[in-house]
Amino acid sequence: MCRIWKAAVILCAAAMLTGCAPQDASYERTEELFGTFVSAKIYCDDAKNAQAALDAAFARAGELECIFSPNIADSELNAVNAAAYAQDTAVSEDFLYLLEQSLYFTELTDGAFDCRLGELIDLWGIGTESAKIPTETECRNALLPSGDTTVSIHADGTVRFLDERVQLQFGAIAKGYIADEMKAVLDSFGIESGTLSLGGNVLTLGEKPSGDAWTVGITDPFSPGELYATVRVKGKSVVTSGNYERYFEENGVRYHHIFDPETGFPADAGLVSTTIIADSSLLCDALSTATYVLGAEEGMALIEQLDGAEAVFLTEDGEILTSSGMAEYELKQVTK
Ligand code: AMP
Ligand code: MG
Repeated sequence: MCRIWKAAVILCAAAMLTGCAPQDASYERTEELFGTFVSAKIYCDDAKNAQAALDAAFARAGELECIFSPNIADSELNAVNAAAYAQDTAVSEDFLYLLEQSLYFTELTDGAFDCRLGELIDLWGIGTESAKIPTETECRNALLPSGDTTVSIHADGTVRFLDERVQLQFGAIAKGYIADEMKAVLDSFGIESGTLSLGGNVLTLGEKPSGDAWTVGITDPFSPGELYATVRVKGKSVVTSGNYERYFEENGVRYHHIFDPETGFPADAGLVSTTIIADSSLLCDALSTATYVLGAEEGMALIEQLDGAEAVFLTEDGEILTSSGMAEYELKQVTK
């Protein structure tokens, strides 16, 4: 499966850059990647160029899925996880980039974002048929020392795990990276207007053909078929993490898929949804997960200290909290 995607990427790389003015004609495509639906809608007056751009963008997404998916048996992620404790392991440029970015966000978020939690995630199995609450001993045994001391990246680009329990997984950042990479491909075809949607991640290209901003809805965690708010953006990503995406319930308690790396249990810092708006979808993705773990106070303090990132949090009591620059995005609560 992975080889087919690579062939498609090479074919598409030969596509000519013909440019594309944002006209009213739109072209759409949806594919299932990374366990979620990935949709693109682009505006363009040249049908051939639009189709070639979509082919190339989805081929790049497929290539990245083959690298980062834990569910593809021969993914690079699975190969690295199997090898890197025993030996220095060569990795691809994409892999090295996302690993370095992840370790940067681990440091920035004081360990709230952690790409080394593969073993813990498998232990809980949330979103699978074997989901269960692990025993405290199992949980404790899967916890890793904080910081990046258990993964070393060498000058020659090889990677080594220094703790047997390290299993990398990029579930909290890969979709953001894929969105940024798909956008880069669409840019190279001259596409100036459109939207990408990868599960809870939305990336907008430029503005609507009318010149208007895009309206992006934020799912209501208390009623996931509905929205609790909308924002209006041009050329930004809007990424949300929530307790409603993957979870199971036992004795009235919801166990969801975002873990506090300090406890090994689903994060319980008082938030049910965290949305980040910024230029980079990768940054939005990493920070939506991290702020969910950090909670309102620490999470908002982190966002305020960063240039160009804004946040909307929903607390478990239904209170909406916003960062100081959110007014620009015309946050509107959806009345029911
Ligand atoms: P997101 O929906 O972007 O918040 O990502 C959640 C996914 O990231 C989960 O399904 C896990 O695969 C993984 N994950 C869970 N907790 C963390 C964490 N604290 N840091 C990094 N990745 C995590
Ligand atoms: Mg995330």
